[in-house]
Amino acid sequence: MRKPFIAGNWKMFKTTKEAVAFAEEFKALYHDSDVTAAICAPFTQLAALKEAFGDCGVKVGAQNMHFEESGAFTGEIAPAMLTEIGVDYVIIGHSERRQYFAETDETVNKKVKKAFEHGLVPIMCVGEVLEQRDAGQAYDVVKTQVEGGIKDLSAEQMKQLVIAYEPVWAIGTGRTATPEQAQEMCAYIRQVIEGLYGSEVSEEVIIQYGGSVKPNNASELMNMEDIDGALVGGASLKPEDFIQIVEF
Ligand code: 13P
Repeated sequence: MRKPFIAGNWKMFKTTKEAVAFAEEFKALYHDSDVTAAICAPFTQLAALKEAFGDCGVKVGAQNMHFEESGAFTGEIAPAMLTEIGVDYVIIGHSERRQYFAETDETVNKKVKKAFEHGLVPIMCVGEVLEQRDAGQAYDVVKTQVEGGIKDLSAEQMKQLVIAYEPVWAIGTGRTATPEQAQEMCAYIRQVIEGLYGSEVSEEVIIQYGGSVKPNNASELMNMEDIDGALVGGASLKPEDFIQIVEF
């Protein structure tokens, strides 16, 4: 059985003070051990969030990391810098990083492999843009992203990987994919993995949907068979909204 996994992606929002205030409020609301909940915050908020959440069960994730151990890479963050403060997850290949920071399937693959080497669980993002969906290319685009991102992973690593299907046209637009559209693509992703690793592996992979997930649409998305969780942007910024999604 796949345990539902709801992660917030704060993107470039919240100062440390605001992050700690969120954690204090959210902690008081969160009791649901049947669902894994995480907040993926900007780097400078991670240590404070980790401390503020304490042992309440809410996990902490980063939004990116470099694929090298260390080096002359001004402005970058190495995996050991994340594990030292107890970070559990790291988002890799978010569409905003692909769009604005030249992430490719190749860098995504290097980062995914490096994250596993350090015991971090990658949340690997894939998803098509609107022109690709309208041109009937969504499935091919996502297949290429999935296959490129997971290249050379072992079966054990594959079982632990989290994949987030985030159609770019649904991110921050209020235009969510229908539960059927989201289900179809998540099922397809699982099928691609099954083709490469077999069903014992594909049945364990957590696949999230992301793109305008809100308190009022979370449960219908989460009730679809191949959607195991959500990657939530805007609605993860307020404890009272995020808790409703976690408790879908
Ligand atoms: P929104 O929930 O704000 O659409 O953002 C989705 C997203 O990009 C999460 O990674």
